[in-house]
Amino acid sequence: MEDCVFCDIVNRELKAKVLYENERVMAFYDLVSVAPVHFLVISKTHIVAAKAIDKENSGVVAEIFEVIAELAKKLELVDGFRVVTNSGKLAGQTVKHLHFHVLGGRVFEWPPG
Ligand code: AMP
Ligand code: ZN
Repeated sequence: MEDCVFCDIVNRELKAKVLYENERVMAFYDLVSVAPVHFLVISKTHIVAAKAIDKENSGVVAEIFEVIAELAKKLELVDGFRVVTNSGKLAGQTVKHLHFHVLGGRVFEWPPG
């Protein structure tokens, strides 16, 4: 596997502001916030992007969404929040390890730009 910054965070080779972790899932604040609340939730296993989710690995995606719901409650995102995953070049994916952005604390336009 090529070098992966999110695997480095999982392996504690790179520091991050970790919000939550268990054996399969990790959540940490994004380095470059685009909203008052902006964190990422990842699978600890390296999955390249949403395009690579299949029957073998989709269980962790359900767990990621359970963690998102828990953290949204904990961080009091009661008026709403947005979950985004970018898959591939056209979507602007820059880190090729499946991650879900959780954005809150402001209004988000729809459709997105
Ligand atoms: P994407 O463009 O959807 O692939 O999102 C990748 C996100 O990872 C960007 O919002 C980056 O700011 C964020 N990011 C990159 N490196 C780190 C890091 N070391 N710690 C936390 N967030 C990071
Ligand atoms: Zn990785």
